[in-house]
Amino acid sequence: MRVLVADDETTTRLVVKAVIQKLGHECLVAADGSLAWTLLQETHVDVLITDWMMPGIDGPELCRRIRAEPDGSYTYIIMATVLAERNDVLAGMQAGADDYLTKPLDPFDVQTRLVAAERVSNLHRQLADARAEQDRLNRELADQARTDPLTQLGNRLRLREDLQRVHAHALRHMQAYSIAICDIDHFKVYNDTYGHPKGDAALQQVAAVLSSDVRASDAAYRFGGEEFVIVYPDDGLDGAIVATERLRTAIEALHVTHQGNPPAGVLTISAGVATHIPNTGTSPEAVLEKADQALYAAKQHGRNQTAAAGREVSTVAPS
Ligand code: GH3
Ligand code: MG
Ligand code: MG
Repeated sequence: MRVLVADDETTTRLVVKAVIQKLGHECLVAADGSLAWTLLQETHVDVLITDWMMPGIDGPELCRRIRAEPDGSYTYIIMATVLAERNDVLAGMQAGADDYLTKPLDPFDVQTRLVAAERVSNLHRQLADARAEQDRLNRELADQARTDPLTQLGNRLRLREDLQRVHAHALRHMQAYSIAICDIDHFKVYNDTYGHPKGDAALQQVAAVLSSDVRASDAAYRFGGEEFVIVYPDDGLDGAIVATERLRTAIEALHVTHQGNPPAGVLTISAGVATHIPNTGTSPEAVLEKADQALYAAKQHGRNQTAAAGREVSTVAPS
């Protein structure tokens, strides 16, 4: 253990330091409360043996400051008092001390107190480790619950949460944001022709393109089945159309053979884009719905193209 002895008497410091080192612990010393507090902030101390009366910061104040620190590691505090101060022991314990010693200090007493201190320190360390592990597992579970296992893209739950944030931010800043829904063309035929495992692999390829080709500000999600959603937090309709078209052509450029998808003959997607205009009272769900209607128009108009809500399909798609 690392033990800090805070005492303004040289003799006490020397006696206690000798006991601590003899027991194989590391010992730091401070001749006043202020120096002790500086050391405590710079380094983790397992045990503090502190005098009650000291220049600068006194023992109880040192206790209060240590207990007020939010960090998880525990410092076991033993307060040393002369007999005349015995009535103050309770106040010291209430200020945060775990135990007390009566001065002049008896090396045997110091030794027995350190045995208890070590046991308690170990328990606190185990508790802190268990809590850290629990936090890590909780974060991992929360992340898993928001990730699609096949494509590793965010799933619907993550989309809903992110979209709420994007929506709130857009309202605060009176900005537009856009959403695209992308759907693989004739994917049922793809599965029927090449088998379900090939279908899964194709979904992974499409997802990989979407996640690697979206700009850092944007995000791709698996909406379900063979449908994906892209959120463009900073784009109006024109920007979102350009960005979605870039993704659509990148997927076509994969050249994944798909005989059942003429005339391209390769795997393609259709996309519908819609924008949220601030101050219209529209919900994110309504924007998604509009994007879905635009997607339907893109499908009706021949697939492998992007359609935008409120615009003629032919004015968008360069197909
Ligand atoms: P359209 O161009 O109109 O979108 O036609 P489509 O065949 O793509 O649309 P449809 O909704 O009829 O079929 C979607 C297909 O997507 C059916 C389903 O088997 C397939 N699918 C959905 N999820 C998965 C999946 O996780 N893995 C595989 N391999 N196929 C999937
Ligand atoms: Mg489809
Ligand atoms: Mg579909």
